[in-house]
Amino acid sequence: MRMSQLFAPTLREVPAEAETISHQYLLRAGMIRKIAAGIYNYLPLAQRVLQKIERIVREEMDKQGGQELQMPALHPADLWLESGRWDVYGKELFRLQDRHERDYCLGPTHEEVITDLVRREVSSYRQLPLLLYQIQTKFRDEIRPRFGLIRGREFTMKDLYSFDKDEEGLAVSYQKMYHAYSEVFRRCGLKFRVVEADTGAIGGSDSHEFVVIAETGESEIAYCDECNYAANVERAEAVLEVEGSSPTAQGELELASTPGMTTISEVADFLAVDPRGLIKTLVYLAIDKEDYQPVVVLLRGDREVNEIKLQNYLGCLHLALADADTVQKITGAPVGFAGPVGLKDVRIIADEEVPHIVNGVCGANRADYHWVNVNPGRDFAITEVADIRKVVAGDKCKVCGHALKTTRGIEVGHIFKLGTKYSEAMGATFLDEKGNKKPFVMGCYGIGIPRTMAAAIEQNHDDKGIIWPMPIAPYQVVVVPVNSKIEEQMKVAEELYAALQGAGIEVVLDDRDERAGVKFNDADLIGFPLRITIGSRSLKEGKVEIKKRRTGEILLVEREQVVATLQELIRAEIEIGAQD
Ligand SMILES: [Zn+2]
Repeated sequence: MRMSQLFAPTLREVPAEAETISHQYLLRAGMIRKIAAGIYNYLPLAQRVLQKIERIVREEMDKQGGQELQMPALHPADLWLESGRWDVYGKELFRLQDRHERDYCLGPTHEEVITDLVRREVSSYRQLPLLLYQIQTKFRDEIRPRFGLIRGREFTMKDLYSFDKDEEGLAVSYQKMYHAYSEVFRRCGLKFRVVEADTGAIGGSDSHEFVVIAETGESEIAYCDECNYAANVERAEAVLEVEGSSPTAQGELELASTPGMTTISEVADFLAVDPRGLIKTLVYLAIDKEDYQPVVVLLRGDREVNEIKLQNYLGCLHLALADADTVQKITGAPVGFAGPVGLKDVRIIADEEVPHIVNGVCGANRADYHWVNVNPGRDFAITEVADIRKVVAGDKCKVCGHALKTTRGIEVGHIFKLGTKYSEAMGATFLDEKGNKKPFVMGCYGIGIPRTMAAAIEQNHDDKGIIWPMPIAPYQVVVVPVNSKIEEQMKVAEELYAALQGAGIEVVLDDRDERAGVKFNDADLIGFPLRITIGSRSLKEGKVEIKKRRTGEILLVEREQVVATLQELIRAEIEIGAQD
């Protein structure tokens, strides 16, 4: 490809709409353009990256016995009513009607459609296991589409569904996909972690996320270097640590004046106590359809609520912090002065650390006052104790006891054991060895393709632009003659361009009549892994310069050796996969 012909309208300025690094660079490198919120055109450079990711995905799915098919994006509502998700899925589901006023939706995922297909066509255990997948467009009506391709409303996904005759079969299929996903991200040249995940709206028992590590990522994970335990902080658990081996005498409950002190740090500073000795008291609303119940939540002062753990514990559809009026109604005091002492007729849920607080401090349910020397059990009753706190770095690993670390990343793959949730709801059965009717045991496995491209950029960039991992780079090499007006430079560039193409190397020739600086900047922005610079000085010695985008390392190579050297560099980087 010649740069003069390449449809990649690069931008000098950072577009105002871009919130993340990947969004900025995808726009600036002329790879994507927005058509509406969360909906994008993919320009040729992006399309090449996506196709490379898809090729790797296809190869790994096929290696595990996956069979590719294609399902529609438009789904009749009947199927979603059968599974029960028409009502549960909420506003993220794009719903529409045809001219006969029949309901449809644009599929955000395909459990219903594939279960319907398999229940019609598969009747015997002899036809199992089945691993069926597609790479197809999905739709999700995000409330706030953002971060470019990270949270879009229309996106491509690889989704595979496994059908087995029993749990043991599902465990095998799940393990195959776990392995395949690890291979996919390794072969894409990405650093990633596999973490335990919350199963959320899809349901099911086991679930793992594949997270590409990047400081700018939207999800936070806790992990242990000693034993490989890793979990999304939405779900991560840690050992309960109780301090103070020598029992402290319980002091007398006292009222302390704390004028205008409403936050944990204000109260801790004012009373000169450790925030860990405070009892943080929050009022939440547990919401189920029309109905909602206030609940009071207690945590150690230095802790944050893990709302996902709390919601799972309460088993409600939604969860929200109560408004100031509700807090006033429940506690009799403005926000900032709530405490459990004397509260009646409301559920109080304490994190498992709270019962161990001795001589603590909490709000007195009275403006500008706190209780000191509060002792759980003596001064208020704890009836419900649960693990509802967010894990932080330094908490102890529940598997091996070492200190956990935290990092950020972007979820690019997610695998679930669904069990019989969908097959039972939709009456999808087969006959087992004894002729008994059994529901299929299912799993589902998804990879966001554009998301993987964006995550690759979040992980691999510098202040000049993208640094593509070789296996998914749109082109492997760019050839840059320093001055296109000098005939000899252009002649050598054209010869090399032809030779590299002949050798099967993916190459762009920057044949534009631009200053060298402009060409170098574009090469860095687009992120070609290797740049060949053809300048007068090295040519005199019969050499050209190869520069590695990632390290900046420069190799001076004889002209006759260029093709072989590049082939070797490219092969090595594709084989190694992710490098530390
Ligand atoms: Zn550990």
